[in-house]
Formats: sequence, C-alpha cells, structure tokens
Amino acid sequence: MKFNIIKSDGNARTGLIETDRGKIHTPAFIPVGTVGTVKAVTPDELKEMGAEMILCNTYHLYLRPGHEIISSLGGIHKFMNWDRTILTDSGGFQVFSLSALRKIEENGVHFKSHLDGSMHFIGPKEAMEIQSLLGSDIAMVLDDCAPYPSSYEYTVESLERTTMWADQCKEYHKKMQDNPPMSPLTKGGIKGESCIVYRASPQCLFGIIQGGMYNDLRKRSAEELVKIGFDGYAVGGLSVGEPKEEMHEMIYFTAPLLPYYKPRYLMGIGDLKDVLIGVEAGFDMFDCVMPTRNARNGTLFTSRGRISIKREEFKSDRGPLDPDCECYTCRNYSRGYLRHIFLSKEILSMRLNTIHNLYFYFNFFRNMRRFIREGKFKEFKIRWEEIVR
Ligand SMILES: [Zn+2]
Repeated sequence: MKFNIIKSDGNARTGLIETDRGKIHTPAFIPVGTVGTVKAVTPDELKEMGAEMILCNTYHLYLRPGHEIISSLGGIHKFMNWDRTILTDSGGFQVFSLSALRKIEENGVHFKSHLDGSMHFIGPKEAMEIQSLLGSDIAMVLDDCAPYPSSYEYTVESLERTTMWADQCKEYHKKMQDNPPMSPLTKGGIKGESCIVYRASPQCLFGIIQGGMYNDLRKRSAEELVKIGFDGYAVGGLSVGEPKEEMHEMIYFTAPLLPYYKPRYLMGIGDLKDVLIGVEAGFDMFDCVMPTRNARNGTLFTSRGRISIKREEFKSDRGPLDPDCECYTCRNYSRGYLRHIFLSKEILSMRLNTIHNLYFYFNFFRNMRRFIREGKFKEFKIRWEEIVR
C-alpha cells in the first residue's frame, strides 16, 4: 500500500492511498457494508457515486455466514461482487457494543453471539486469521475499547491490553502473509464441486490508538503503537457516549501524535460536523453508518441542512430533495413522491434515500478535497459548519 500527501492546508491534507485494488482519494468517506452489503445499493451504484473503499464488519461476517464459507466462495471481494478496496475491522468494537455477555481475558475476549446466544472467542490470532480468510485489503488489529466513562486505572489496563494485542496481531499477521491460512472447506473442496484455491492479495494492517479520554494515555498508546509499526493508524474509542466537546478536543490532541506520512483513520466518525474537525486536525479516513442508516429512517442530508422527508410540508412539494444535488434521486423525483413512498414503506424509498445520502456524502468529501487543494479548507469549514450544526 502506498500513501502520498498531495497538498496540505494547515493540518488538513489531501492525498492518495493506493492498494492493489485501486486508488482512494483522501480525506475519504468509507461507507459501511456491515454484513457484506452497503444496505439498499448495488456495488455498481456505489462506484458511480464515487466509492473507492468500503468497510465490512468482521464480527458479523464471522458469525454469519462464517469466514470459512466466505473464503471457500472466493473471498470477500468475489463473495459480494466488490472489486475495489475493502477494509475489515477486527470485530472487537462489535463484541464490546453488541454482545450481551463478554469476558475479557489477557489472551482475548469470550462473547455470546447476539444472533443465537452461542459462545465464541476472539483473540489476536483469531482476529488475524478471520480477516486473512476474508481476504480484505486493510485489516485492523484487535483492540480493547474502554467504555465511557472509564476510570484512569481501568483505561490503563485496557490500553496495556491493546498494545499487547497489537503486538501479537502484527506477529500473526506477518506469519499469515507469508503462509496464508486456508479454509477447511476449501481444503477438502465443497461436496460436488472442484476445489477452489483462493489466495488473497497482500493485506496491510492498521494499528488502533486507545487511551479513553486521558491525554497522557492517548499519547502513550500512540507511542507504543508507532514503535510496533503499522501501515496506517486509527483512533478508536471515540463517539462512545462522551460529550462532543471532549471528543473534539481528543481529535485535535491525537492527530499530531500519529506519523505524518501514514494514513490516519478516525474510526466510526461520520457526523459531518465531526468530519470537519477531524479533517482540520489531519485525519484522512472516516467510516460511518450515518448516511445509510439515516436514509432508511427518512432523514436526508441536503445543502441546506438535514430534513425529515415524512413532514407534512412536503406532501405536495414538486421540487427535488436538494436543488443542488445531481444524484439519480434528485434528478428524477419530487419531495412529494419521496414522502409518499416513505410513508407507504415502499422498498424503493430506502433505495432512493440511500442513493441520495451517499451521493451527498461523496460530493461533500470531493468538494472538501478540492478546497484543501486550493488552500481554502477554512472557507469550506466555515461554510459547512453553519449548515451541518
Ligand atoms: Zn440527491
């Protein structure tokens, strides 16, 4: 993986990540394809909107259909028909946020599936093995995300575990890159089918900085992870219930602790107000379910702020959702129609809303990159802060 910074403006920067599967212009928005699909849109539609990378959740894919099945079906790209870059998380965050029962031990975490209550275990080795079998282009280390609020003592403990796991992940990852694991299903061949030997392209590995809301611990976490050495660095453990001001302070504080010439990834942050802060601080990658989830709930982003399409005032509105938007939805449908199909719970409503929200996000990022290139990021930030607050 290569990363080049094309232009910086203050701490904000625009650059280019290159993986074996293509280019990603940064700052980049990464849509979330939780179980191997960005809900309600096809890969072709995503490409048309400008998606260059998507995120899939290891936790979900591990539980259903299982990484071994995906591997035996040719790996995650073939499985979901997406030939551009895929980033997988380590599963850690979902274990902490979705699983009702979890027990953290030194060598990993035991957890109960939110689907059927079965018990599972993921440690550094398992996290690397699952992501290796999925065949993603960017894998994430297993980290321990401390809840908010957490005591100083607990956060230290969690940070030390995060560093230890990161170290072990790097070691296992290297071994698996040299000698990729193979799904037992692939080994024997699927009954009645010829054996598919699937070998993923080289995978890079990102470290995750933790340390809760404590500056000294964030600094320590960053130093320890940089010492281990990764292809890129993510900041985790933010947007976990802390006040926005505290989160923004931590974003500004953490960015300069990360190597300048490596991609910096602000995990799970996608509220546009937070994105503006993140980009100003010097982050390059952002993932979030916000545009897709909100679309399905009828909340739409426009150049004049957010709107709820179900509102009475749109009943006989013949205008487009956003007069400044050139997406398929805005070119072809009125607000009155979008309101009608939303209230009628039509499947097309989710599709059209998602197409618009994602297009809006990609366009926002495209324009932001242009403003950084032109040395006018401040202007962009001031203009949008008014709209997205
Ligand atoms: Zn639109």
